[in-house]
Amino acid sequence: EASPSPKKQISNVTVCSRFRPLNSKERKDHGGQVCVRRIDDETFVFKDEKEEESTFSFDKVFYEDSLQADVYEFIALPIVRDVVNGVNGTIITYGQTGAGKTYSMEGPNVLESDDMKKGLLPRVVDGLFEHLASAGDSIKYEITLSMVEIYMEKVRDLFDLSKDNLVIKQNKGHEMLVSGVTEASELLLLPSLSGKIDSFVRHRRSFAKPTCKMVSFERLFFKCVSHVLILRLNLQAGIQNRAVGETRIHIIMLLKGRTGKLVLVDLAGSEKVEKTGAEGKLLEEAKTINKSLSALGNVINALTCSSSKSNHIPYRDSKLTRLLQDALGGNSRTALICCCSPSTSNSSETFSTLRFGTRAK
Ligand code: ADP
Ligand code: MG
Repeated sequence: EASPSPKKQISNVTVCSRFRPLNSKERKDHGGQVCVRRIDDETFVFKDEKEEESTFSFDKVFYEDSLQADVYEFIALPIVRDVVNGVNGTIITYGQTGAGKTYSMEGPNVLESDDMKKGLLPRVVDGLFEHLASAGDSIKYEITLSMVEIYMEKVRDLFDLSKDNLVIKQNKGHEMLVSGVTEASELLLLPSLSGKIDSFVRHRRSFAKPTCKMVSFERLFFKCVSHVLILRLNLQAGIQNRAVGETRIHIIMLLKGRTGKLVLVDLAGSEKVEKTGAEGKLLEEAKTINKSLSALGNVINALTCSSSKSNHIPYRDSKLTRLLQDALGGNSRTALICCCSPSTSNSSETFSTLRFGTRAK
């Protein structure tokens, strides 16, 4: 198969911004004033603390009335389709603490039952299965899930907390691996289920006993459904182990002839060190976080900067960028979601988040 031309990688970065609704504290602050005025789905006017206005444009702007499904469809669906075809994909949420990164990535909480509120991660898992099911008559594939957290430049396994300093390696195929990381894995043979699941459920209601043909289909169907459930349970187990304020990385590998890797990155809060008033260990933490976020910014910037002659991409400047080396640039698609508070009380952090996003375009 033809590999994508290197020129194409410039357009492989999608940058969006997302404003969550005002929270109750912000409603009280500054009379609930907002820093954003909608122009259209790509452009808005931003008002800073001094009431000065500037216009920002992104590939897409999600305002407070946007749905989780809208975010999935625009950002994740094209990536899910590519991963099924062996193209790597990365989705990153950036922004200050409380701006909506985790809400966008996972949803309001781990055990969210409201389907409307489900975040990208559960939707991506379901989307992968849907695409695999409709892709062909009979596909053999393997899917694995790993979850790590990066804290103070240490990689920690969220499925096995005793592994708290894992090494990032590159294999002969130039793929980045977390050496020894736990991989929740399943091997499956999946028939084309498109349209069959509905009729199967309907059949089950109207027939007391399934026909012979149905039995084998039933077995495959339940295997498929239970696989989704296993992945979901694994997602939850990993998510429950997380700490607060670290960069959390979900790695989904899909082996189907070619390997496609989908990486979901919920970054640590981007707030400025001075503002947090941190001292001692907390200050060290904040500095490390800022260093790895700026390393990420530099990598994305180098990738999107078409004029860069040297073509040096500084992946080695942090664990985060090293781990993402094969998931950013080259044969991959990247989406960055810049999460923002709409309140004027947060406008200086929001401005720096929007600047980060603008630099990444
Ligand atoms: P972060 O991960 O960036 O620190 P969270 O995702 O935890 O922030 O969001 C902070 C709070 O705001 C949470 O209570 C979350 O449920 C809520 N929230 C964030 N984004 C939205 C949104 N788009 N709609 C409704 N509530 C949201
Ligand atoms: Mg969070």
